[in-house]
Amino acid sequence: MANVFNWQLGRDMHYQYGADRPARQVAWVFDTNKCIACQTCTIACKQTWTWGRGQEYMLWNNVETKPYGFFPTGWDVKLLEMLGPASWRDGVYQGETVFEKAPEGERVLGWQPEAEDWSHPNVGEDEPAGETGRGTYVGSIPHDVWFYYLARICNHCTYPACLAACPRNAIYKRPEDGIVLVDQSRCRGYQECVTACPYKKVMFNPVSGTSEKCIACFPKIEQGLQTQCVTSCIGRIRFAGFISPPGEVNESNPIDFLVKVRKVALPLYPQSGTEPNVYYVPPMHAPKPFLRQMFGPGVDEALETYTKAREDRDLLGLMMLMGATPYIIHAFKVEGEVAKGFDASGKELVSVPLREPTFTRKYFDEVRDVYLHNIT
Ligand code: SF4
Ligand code: SF4
Repeated sequence: MANVFNWQLGRDMHYQYGADRPARQVAWVFDTNKCIACQTCTIACKQTWTWGRGQEYMLWNNVETKPYGFFPTGWDVKLLEMLGPASWRDGVYQGETVFEKAPEGERVLGWQPEAEDWSHPNVGEDEPAGETGRGTYVGSIPHDVWFYYLARICNHCTYPACLAACPRNAIYKRPEDGIVLVDQSRCRGYQECVTACPYKKVMFNPVSGTSEKCIACFPKIEQGLQTQCVTSCIGRIRFAGFISPPGEVNESNPIDFLVKVRKVALPLYPQSGTEPNVYYVPPMHAPKPFLRQMFGPGVDEALETYTKAREDRDLLGLMMLMGATPYIIHAFKVEGEVAKGFDASGKELVSVPLREPTFTRKYFDEVRDVYLHNIT
């Protein structure tokens, strides 16, 4: 057992192995405010990676409606029940992680979903919290009646619970980019990783008898391309790239800018202790106490900054670059009314206007004698 620093907890913690951070760490930012739950990402991932035998039920990418949606059923409610309510003081987590709270003889605190738990990926879809009686009116932020969509993939954690729990050393974290993979030739299907992952993002294949998980589209990452879930995203809610190690910040790096400079993107359930590397812009309209449990103590600052994004040219420009190119944007800058993205060599990949031009359609076309608006 080693003592490692977890920047999301603001403190050291116990972990099974030493803190050999990769040369660079793959990371994502998802903006929950823009997701429409069209599930295009889910299907893009499924058609690419999980169309084989034994994978029928698998969704390495899923999009669930919060607060009542889960895949598998109740995954995060169970996590919160096991860890207890998260409490923070001055940005430092006061509770225990899944490693520190592991039962005697175990490496990680976890639970094993039943087959039934994987059977209802759309449970709770579009189901709001709050009373929706006659005359319900949604007029202020946060809303009394609310739900939001949470898109999820494996977090390619810095301290993966799946890796720590594997008795076969079949799970490894690539030193070149931090992608977490299951070595299929070593896995014997003990499913300790399934039990351990707090996010339930390892799945067991009953045909091959091995565990499988999101591979971060590593053949694309290796070619400088963003992952399938990112490039297929209809809502343009996603960025894939690399995050700098703790204590280092590269202001022109989109992921660093959103996570460390403007701090609008936050980790999912940081109290798990795995240092997850998918970062979320929290939803503006949901109750803050709920969001603080899910995204940690940075929620208030993140939302305050996000709501002023229109006045923040760098933040606005960067958000306009989301979904604008299939390539990984390593650096960006805003010049005049244009935001530009660059690859690792500094070559320009894409440029987008800060504000899309708008055109007002005439009400009536005299030449063709036709109304151009819906007049019914
Ligand atoms: S494709 Fe994008 S907008 Fe559609 S569900 Fe997935 S994350 Fe949300
Ligand atoms: S999200 Fe789960 S499966 Fe993915 S690296 Fe973290 S612990 Fe492992």
